[in-house]
This record gives sequence, C-alpha cells and structure tokens, in this order.
Amino acid sequence: MSKFSACNFKDQKVLIRVDFNVPLNSKYEITDDTRMKAAVPTIKKILDDGGKVILMSHLGRPKGGPEEKYSLKHLITHLSELLGGVTVLFANDCIGEQAYTTAAMMRPGEVLLLENLRFYKEEEKGDEEFARKLAKLADIYVNDAFGTAHRAHASTAVIAKFFPVEKRMFGLLMEGEVSSAEKVLHQSQKPFTAIIGGAKVSDKILIIENLLKKATDIIIGGGMAYTFIKAQGGKIGNSLCEEDRIEFAHDLLKRAENAGVCIHLPSDSVIADKFDNNAAISTSASNSIPDGWLGLDIGENARAQFANVIKRSKTILWNGPMGVFEMSNFQNGTRAIAEAVAEATQQGAFSLVGGGDSVAAVNQFGFADKVSYVSTGGGAMLEYFEGKTLPGIAAVSAF
Ligand code: AMP
Repeated sequence: MSKFSACNFKDQKVLIRVDFNVPLNSKYEITDDTRMKAAVPTIKKILDDGGKVILMSHLGRPKGGPEEKYSLKHLITHLSELLGGVTVLFANDCIGEQAYTTAAMMRPGEVLLLENLRFYKEEEKGDEEFARKLAKLADIYVNDAFGTAHRAHASTAVIAKFFPVEKRMFGLLMEGEVSSAEKVLHQSQKPFTAIIGGAKVSDKILIIENLLKKATDIIIGGGMAYTFIKAQGGKIGNSLCEEDRIEFAHDLLKRAENAGVCIHLPSDSVIADKFDNNAAISTSASNSIPDGWLGLDIGENARAQFANVIKRSKTILWNGPMGVFEMSNFQNGTRAIAEAVAEATQQGAFSLVGGGDSVAAVNQFGFADKVSYVSTGGGAMLEYFEGKTLPGIAAVSAF
C-alpha cells in the first residue's frame, strides 16, 4: 500500500498542492474541469478519514499581485459540487491572518481553498520564507500537482522540507503519474516503442535522445518527421522543416543505428496544397512530395507500418499527434495510432499517453479509457522522459 493510502488523516490538517489551473471564460465560468476532477480522490480520502483539507494552487499567470480574473474564488461553487456538497471555505490571501484563523478553526470534513499562490511573486521564485508561511497552515503536506512538478516553486518543492519525512507525501494523482512514468522509463518490458509526433523537432530533441537509451523502437510522425526525411535526402515539398535541425536529425539516425534502436518514419503521407482543411488533398511517398504540397498526416501505408510495430510492443509511450488532427481531413493517422495503442493495451501492453496534444487526441477520439494511463502533466511529463529530476518529486522523496 502506498504511503498516502496507508495514512489515516483523522483530525489532521492537510495542505494539498493541487493543480487547479483551469480555463475560465469571460464570465469566470470553468470551461474544462479535468484538473479539478483529477484531485477529487485525494481530497475525498482525507475528508473520509475525518481530516481537514487546505487546498493551494496557482491559476493563470498573474503579474505578481491580485487580479480578479485569476482569483480562485471562481472555483468555490464547482469544487463544492465535485465534492458532493462539502462546505468550501475561502481565504482571500494564501498566507494572510484570515487563512491562519480559518485553518485553526476548521472542523474535520471541511475544505479551505486558499487564494492564488501566484499573487505572490515569491511563489515562482521558490522563496523559503513564503514556503515556511504556507507550511505553518497545516500538519501534513501532500503534493498532488504533477503538472507543476517540474517547477522548483515555493509550494511545489521548497515547502516540503518544513515537514518531517513521514508528514510529506504524494497524493493519489501524483502517485499514479509517478508510478506510470517509472514503469515506462525504468521498468519497461521490451519491446518498448516510443511514439513521438507533433510539430517541432526542437521541442523533442532531449526526449528522443534519452529514449535512445531506453526504447527498442521509436516512431516519429507529425510535422517533425519531415526534417528527418529531408536529412535522409528525401524531397519534402513545402512540409514543415527545421533547417537548423537537419544535421541533428542526420546524426540521431546514425546514433540510433549504432545503438540498435529502430527508428520508424512514415513511408507515405497525406499531402495538401495548402494548410487548410479544404485544400486539395492527395497522397505521396513521404520522400518525394511535390513542390507546393505539404505533408499534413501520415498515409495509409505508414499507418499500417506503425500499427504493426505498436501491436507487437509490451510498453508504449506516446507524445504528440501524427498529423494536423485538429482538421478532420488530417486526423486519420492520429486516430489509427490511437486504435493500435488501444489494441496493444488490450493484449497486455502498458501504454502511457502524455503531452498536451496527444492527450487531446485520445480524448477527442474516445480512447482515453482504452490506454493504461493518460498523463495530466504536459511539460512535467516531457521533462521526466528527458531524464531530468523533477523538483516536485525530488523534494517529497528526499530524506
Ligand atoms: P507539438 O505541440 O509540438 O506536440 O505539436 C502539436 C501540433 O503539431 C498540433 O497542433 C498539430 O496540428 C501539429 N502538427 C502535426 N503534424 C503536423 C504536420 N504534418 N504539419 C504541420 N503541423 C503538424
């Protein structure tokens, strides 16, 4: 049993760092509550034990002082609903007198939501004194914000040292994220296939380099594939290409060969005469795309080629779409990959999908519950797979 699940929080004041950075419309209504829902199991466990929950989060990018549009008070009503009608108290300053007195008077089963941490610039600076003031609010610190685990901020990392080892821990969401990521990076069963897509090679250089040490196969799709195809001497027409990364792509293909890692590039592409869903559409070998045309999705052969690799895998990591999936005419490649990952998962593979756009794609195509784990942390997950130590994980784990 995990440290969090084994803990009985009865009568304890528990300060949870959640990621409630949800989008709000102009009427301050929440337009996507995924991040709030993700924290509910952790909060409920503490409340069910008879504990007191104090929640802290950031919201948006305030400039260092209070701003109405970034106030967490807009979340109070919906949070209470998500928790089945529990009373949610609010402190309009996360370290002010009101926060301390409310925290001191809380009864078991109550929730206190603190105002936006980033109304203090000390939060992002990782200020010790600010972290110490936050820590004074509670007996136990729980980090359940995987989305900000790659930041060394006061509430995500620095605060941990003000709690003894047995009183600082990950919440259920964070535990799930960390154990899934570890399963892929450190305990992967082979064959291990990494699927990397999206627009830019430059964003994915570090992750591909680290995966060269871990994966047996790396599938490269999306706009970034064309820089690799050009590096091999292919003609890519007007497809996306990062000229200043061609040498890197060339070198990486060589290094993969030396390491015995199989890199799979799309053999064919769906091409269009402009970046538009209503463009003229055709298919072409990916290495002989006519001038004036651009590859916007992987072709049918590439889908079959990639699906074969995916279906014989035991571990799968997927980050980034295979094409411009936001446009209906260029989403079939990404959908085919989602299907293959779901099928491999059904046959016993462990599959982790992470990174903003691939998560959006599996949700859009209805595959979220057909893969083993969908990560909530875009930047954090990328940095984890780049092999970096995440401050939010390190601080809680430190002895
Ligand atoms: P990233 O944020 O780097 O993961 O890139 C995701 C974006 O890449 C999505 O918005 C896709 O529309 C875009 N994308 C994927 N394939 C292509 C392509 N072949 N050409 C242009 N953009 C693409």
